Amino acid sequence: MTNSINRGHMLVCLECGAGISGHWQLRCQCGGILELQRDLSGLDGEHLKRLFEQRLHLRGDVHASGVWRYAELIAPELPEAAMITRGEGNTGLYRSEVSAAYAGIREIRLKAQSENPSGSFKDNGMVVAVSHGLSLGRDVFACSSTGNTSASLAMYSAWCGRASLVIAPASDISPAKINQTIAYGAQVIRFNGTYDDGIRFLERWGDELGLYVCNSLNPYRIEGQKSIIYELAQQLGWKMPDWIAIPGGALSNVSALGKGLDDLWRLGMIDKLPRIALVQAEGASPFHRMVQNNEQMLIPDPQPRTRASAMNIGNPPSWRKALLALKLTRGVTVSVSDEEIMRAKRIIDSSGVGCEPASAATVAGLKKLRAGGVIDPEETAAAILTGHILKDVDALEEMYGEEMLHLGDEPLSPKSVRDKLP
Ligand SMILES: *Cc1c(COP(=O)(O)O)cnc(C)c1O
Repeated sequence: MTNSINRGHMLVCLECGAGISGHWQLRCQCGGILELQRDLSGLDGEHLKRLFEQRLHLRGDVHASGVWRYAELIAPELPEAAMITRGEGNTGLYRSEVSAAYAGIREIRLKAQSENPSGSFKDNGMVVAVSHGLSLGRDVFACSSTGNTSASLAMYSAWCGRASLVIAPASDISPAKINQTIAYGAQVIRFNGTYDDGIRFLERWGDELGLYVCNSLNPYRIEGQKSIIYELAQQLGWKMPDWIAIPGGALSNVSALGKGLDDLWRLGMIDKLPRIALVQAEGASPFHRMVQNNEQMLIPDPQPRTRASAMNIGNPPSWRKALLALKLTRGVTVSVSDEEIMRAKRIIDSSGVGCEPASAATVAGLKKLRAGGVIDPEETAAAILTGHILKDVDALEEMYGEEMLHLGDEPLSPKSVRDKLP
């Protein structure tokens, strides 16, 4: 299978419209956020479907990856020698009747990006960003992170024998995620400040410090994350649900969802454009507020506060891209409380799939949109489960730590168990 089709692509600034090709930079000179734009004109949707179908049977080939399967739509310019893989993507899609009943709609399918090698959807994008850095000959990879990004960065850096540096807030981060990051060998620097401060620091100093910065504004992260919707579409035989619910923090994932849908739609590969339901946590919902108030600029939230730590972001860098995704799909935004998130998490956990708190915002959001009449009971939805149930062990302890029976002085006997059979 050839991967050398060097289709035209360039970085385009979403602020001033400048086009950049031939060299790499993280942001536009004007400070604007960059997007990778590609010429899809030579591609044939039906041919791609057949190609992606054939690759489902591959083993031990880079195109067996649930990201690189779609290389033609992600980064055909990367040389195969730079393409690394840990078998990311290839995640399950599960119809969940309890979730559908809970939200009050006909059908919900859970897309378990939690099944990625480092336990979150961040792998879908990170594998492409790190591969791109490798293609440039870079050897220190860096990010600012609320946890899952850093774990993914550290995993891929270790996997390809390179170093990683992680800047993380001193508080409000799941210890499991930070320890996972250190376990893969990253140098972690905690500091008194927010995720947003860390991003600003890396953008300002990354080049001078010789770092290849893999924050979510890195356009290759977005290109890689498009694979989530490609795989979802393929699993559904290219027939889309009415809605796709997705949690929003830095808003990279919803941006990728919109961009990936745009690709599939323009290539005629899907039967319709599903509507995006972007769900934020009430305590960290600057984007939802902006959309609701019809404002033209995002007003950052200086002190975001939600138990769903993966969404605890007050100044989402990708808000312009997220807005494009909503426009394309007649999408909506909604915010849910931490209590609503935890109630939905109970449902998803008890269904046998499970997820970390941020992911449960999807089902909570679908329920709220149904209750508000935005979603019809006869409609169908997919929910992107972004992180693994074991990513936030504190949440498990808080929610379930007390929910067991203690026999106390009573001896273990058939009788004592029979009395308590579920
Ligand atoms: C990163 C992350 C999010 C938020 O995604 P964004 O692209 O930052 O909007 C949601 N859930 C989990 C588990 C995450 O790791």
